[in-house]
Amino acid sequence: MTDTLDIKITQTSASRLQETDFADLPFGKVFTDHMFVADYEDGEWKNFQIVPYGDMSFSPAMSVLHYGQAFFEGLKVYKHADGKAVIFRPYKNADRFNKSAARLCAPELPRDIFVQSIAALVDIDRGWIPEGNGNSLYIRPFMFSTDPYLGVQPSKSYKFIVLACPVGAYYSKPLNVKIETKFSRSAEGGFGFAKAAGNYAGSLLPALEAMKEGYDQLIWTDGKDHAYIEELGTANVVFVIDGKIVTPSTRDTILEGITRDTLLTLARHWDLPVEERRVSVEEVIAALKEGRMTEAFGVGTAATITPIAAISLDGERFELPDPANAEFSKKALKTLDEIRYGITPDTFEWNYIV
Ligand SMILES: *Cc1c(COP(=O)(O)O)cnc(C)c1O
Repeated sequence: MTDTLDIKITQTSASRLQETDFADLPFGKVFTDHMFVADYEDGEWKNFQIVPYGDMSFSPAMSVLHYGQAFFEGLKVYKHADGKAVIFRPYKNADRFNKSAARLCAPELPRDIFVQSIAALVDIDRGWIPEGNGNSLYIRPFMFSTDPYLGVQPSKSYKFIVLACPVGAYYSKPLNVKIETKFSRSAEGGFGFAKAAGNYAGSLLPALEAMKEGYDQLIWTDGKDHAYIEELGTANVVFVIDGKIVTPSTRDTILEGITRDTLLTLARHWDLPVEERRVSVEEVIAALKEGRMTEAFGVGTAATITPIAAISLDGERFELPDPANAEFSKKALKTLDEIRYGITPDTFEWNYIV
């Protein structure tokens, strides 16, 4: 680690902590008292500050509003029984943040600045981390271009901000999904691997259409032929086929999820067969038809593991076995929770203690 960041701290004079209802925490709507803000100007990161959470003002010509140089991360902080606050695998997010930055022509943010800014915010808003299984503090670091200039070119100035939201357990009923064969989320040579704001803007309409047809979400396929499975759009997808854990290998059209990596690491640690490779739609449908697919689920930071109950292709629906009996995903979730909440030793060194 480099020297500790020199952060100017302005404490709020009106904490909202006491009036916050921790029994009702809709995802992403409740924010802690503070936020971290930094500026990129004249080729360097400066003005590291923690300030009260609140509105900011910007030029209407700000380049991100027109050309979309914006990207983000999402990670979680857990409170242990002994009061310790633990950030889960933050350096992985720091590295991915910089992959997004490089693809979008934004400046690199040194990984120590990324991690220390989060640690400092977590420390000052420590009282906001909800206790208890399933509860956590969701951290949203993001960067965007700020030049007040309408020319299409990489901006010279940027802001890096970190927000924090207390969130409750994320209960999702098993999903009814369809395999998308018309729209695409990303293309080869594009930036599907980046956590870029634009990727989500483009997926809103297809998701809405899928919902109108009665599905909860969709599974994206490759933009070329719609013949290979990619991911869920806010989560990666994992199948258990013939007793093997099968998931699409990551490529420039797929976001490389950290939860995905965590789960595959556990599976390999348990000597379970893991296959990261191209997964065709045809193979998935055949496995469903022949009853060889025993589990299917999404993996991502927000919900950790979201079971899939049914998968449809061109209106034909295939049911999965009851997720209540899903052996691998249930074991993985239990182990992961035990590591995150400090119940089991953190042998993989995933927990960053604040
Ligand atoms: C964030 C995200 C995921 C999941 O990544 P995690 O690091 O596990 O949270 C998967 N796909 C997309 C498109 C995402 O934005």
